[in-house]
Amino acid sequence: MGKSFGLIGLGVMGKSLARNLARHGFDLALFNRHVPGQEEDVARDFIRHFPELSQASGFEVLRDFVQDLERPCKIFLMVNAGAATDAVIDELLPLLQTGDVVMDGGNAHYADTQRRMERLQAQGLHFLGTGVSGGEAGALSGPAVMPGGSADAYALVRPFLEAIAARDKDGNPCCAHVGAGGAGHFVKMVHNGVEYAEMQLIAEAYHILRRGMGMSPDEIADVFAAWNAGPEGSYLLGISVDILRKKSLQGWLLDDIHDAASNKGTGGWATAAAAELGVPATLLTEALFSRFTSSFWKERHEMTQKTDENHENMVFGDVASLQAACQLARLVNHHQGFQLLAAASSRYAWDLPLTEIARIWTNGCIIRSALMEQLRKQVGSHGSFLLLHPENAVFVQQHLPALTQTTCAALAAGLASPCLAAALSHLHALRDADSPMNLVQAQRDYFGAHTYRLKTDPTGPAQHTNWER
Ligand code: NDP
Repeated sequence: MGKSFGLIGLGVMGKSLARNLARHGFDLALFNRHVPGQEEDVARDFIRHFPELSQASGFEVLRDFVQDLERPCKIFLMVNAGAATDAVIDELLPLLQTGDVVMDGGNAHYADTQRRMERLQAQGLHFLGTGVSGGEAGALSGPAVMPGGSADAYALVRPFLEAIAARDKDGNPCCAHVGAGGAGHFVKMVHNGVEYAEMQLIAEAYHILRRGMGMSPDEIADVFAAWNAGPEGSYLLGISVDILRKKSLQGWLLDDIHDAASNKGTGGWATAAAAELGVPATLLTEALFSRFTSSFWKERHEMTQKTDENHENMVFGDVASLQAACQLARLVNHHQGFQLLAAASSRYAWDLPLTEIARIWTNGCIIRSALMEQLRKQVGSHGSFLLLHPENAVFVQQHLPALTQTTCAALAAGLASPCLAAALSHLHALRDADSPMNLVQAQRDYFGAHTYRLKTDPTGPAQHTNWER
């Protein structure tokens, strides 16, 4: 009898997923390409190292790999997104038969997923764009899994994906069919966008505590550890505690790390999607642009020398005030993320199950947090405009002074705080029932006859004025 599940791509994620699947008792066929002169038989070599893989078979010839699978084949791709994924699919297609299922677990762009799905469907094959989050450790112990595509295809692979996924606090798998087409990869992309801003906010808090309040990394680790035990707790905050405590020969390892942050593209895609869908996802955008700014490290050194400014007398609030500021900014970030999901859901008619998405993000994934547990309940009762949830409206009211004071003090002290400032501005803009956008509308009408509507009749007829007469 053939193997029940096939996995292509034994890199960082593929290896962990293979071991996770094997630990759940699935019989596996594993494939890794052979690059002549560079690597030996990767799959067989890998299998030899892990007892849980003793029943698995390893291949470097794709035809042999497919022939070892029972029909319909269930094949999980864990290769680099983009050209590599297309190359593997090109090679795989002639070997597949009607009804076989291909899942792409890489970080593909949702439009590519849609295109690949249509291509495979035309040949009677199923394709599931499957977001996977949790990094190497999560892939091994239980990731959050976000499959998108046809419900029929999902039904065929559901037992495998649910078995390897993390568990929420009620013991249910952090895996759910999130919708048709490219929905799975869209949801994963928004996850990563929210992740960018979560990371950036922790970095801004660290900067304020270190440079603004003069604390050492060990002291900041103690502060973050205390936050992590309460409602601010998150996976990312927890790993930041470990990072802050890590020593090098000279002092803290963190101080040896070049401060130019990279990215692999999903933050840019999320920013582009926000712009395309008209969603003000300002925190993820600022977090991405902060990474870009950090890459100008030579210019930053030069600017620091040429524009040195004395910031001695800036007054910060206490640590509790910073904590409140960060927590409010995180709420704004998640609000924006769910707004982005809701906009895509309506544009692409995906009917995204937002409560389920919040639930599967409570464990396994990088943005798992105590806040996500709270949002999981709130999305269900109140929809995607999370800031209007009664509990959150009170939270905004209570924590706004702390966010204002912290952000103003940080900026006055010369500490860039793009995500804190974006959260504050976003809240102020949302709380302004009488914004200056009437002037922008008037300007648009002045130079381009773009028309405007009247305050007294916002959905009424478009108006135009000859402004120069
Ligand atoms: P790795 O670079 O570690 O592994 C990539 C795998 O793809 C390798 O097995 C590689 O084979 C194979 N591959 C690359 N090009 C080709 C090709 N043209 N034909 C066949 N096989 C190919 O990447 P990761 O495991 O980290 O990531 C895999 C995917 O998962 C990516 O899309 C990534 O964005 C996504 N992802 C990664 C996460 C992470 O934390 N690392 C988290 C969630 C998703 P070879 O060894 O021969 O080069």
